[in-house]
Amino acid sequence: MTRRANKTRSLRHSVSILIIIFFLLSSASACAQLKYAVIPENPRPGDPITIGANSGVTEVLLFVNDKQVGKAPFFYIPGERDLPGFIAAVITVPSTIDSGNVVIKLNNANGQTAAEIPIELTPREFLSEVIHLDPVNTGIRTDPSPERTQQANHLWQILITTGDQIYHTGPFLPPTTATRRTSFFGSRRIFQYSTGGRDTSIHAGVDFGVPTGTRVDACGAGKVVLARTRIVTGNSVVLEHGPGIYSLYYHLDRLNVSEGDMVQTGDLLGYSGSTGLSTGPHLHWEVRVNAENTDPDAFVERQIIDKDLLIRKMYNR
Ligand SMILES: [Zn+2]
Repeated sequence: MTRRANKTRSLRHSVSILIIIFFLLSSASACAQLKYAVIPENPRPGDPITIGANSGVTEVLLFVNDKQVGKAPFFYIPGERDLPGFIAAVITVPSTIDSGNVVIKLNNANGQTAAEIPIELTPREFLSEVIHLDPVNTGIRTDPSPERTQQANHLWQILITTGDQIYHTGPFLPPTTATRRTSFFGSRRIFQYSTGGRDTSIHAGVDFGVPTGTRVDACGAGKVVLARTRIVTGNSVVLEHGPGIYSLYYHLDRLNVSEGDMVQTGDLLGYSGSTGLSTGPHLHWEVRVNAENTDPDAFVERQIIDKDLLIRKMYNR
């Protein structure tokens, strides 16, 4: 036998071994059944949904009437105590969705859907409000300056960034002990300009009616990714808490943190005020998940990633 024939035979041999290994691996992965859990099972518009899974999927997609309205990556939650590691993702039902056929899809790395989970929404009413703006606030809201556009783009770039660090998985602590609220999440707003024009928007967070100088605390552990003065939101702070998960604090009188700082839950971020577009002293607190407005109270009432509950539901423990 020639050396070349020998080589060809050994090559064929290696290829057959590879094919056998491939089939063994693919049948093994087919056997590893996808386990998942969804919290809450009946979210309201604006609520975040936390999805836990054992393995094999990389992405969560949210569809309403076959139209994609949200997307979130899975990230790894290491095991601890007697809990195994798993993957989790957080996605928000947009506050503008009030009915329709809502479906969560869990996709693998090849973009194939491994699970389709129909979701029944809990109905929710949002308040409406008319806000009269004086000439100064009208000027801020209609400011066409490139600086304002640049600031909007900068913030958007932060909010669409999905980091790989997990700083906080527990519930949020409200950023102030004050309970008086002057505006609510998801309020349908009409801005009445001093010039006679008007515009509509949806309130992305909650407003606490607190006097100037009230301390503003971090709602969870995280990294300060923005701490600067902005035209519309005044002295502002943005914290990153996990992949695509951010909290925002607007209209502060003074800032006590700098970009790059690490903070713990309850750490002082600054003092409230009425800077930027504001009709009186208040703290605007907002939460974004993969850039989508999310009801901040949802994560006060429950953990971002409730490891015990997700594992229990995933494995029917
Ligand atoms: Zn507000």
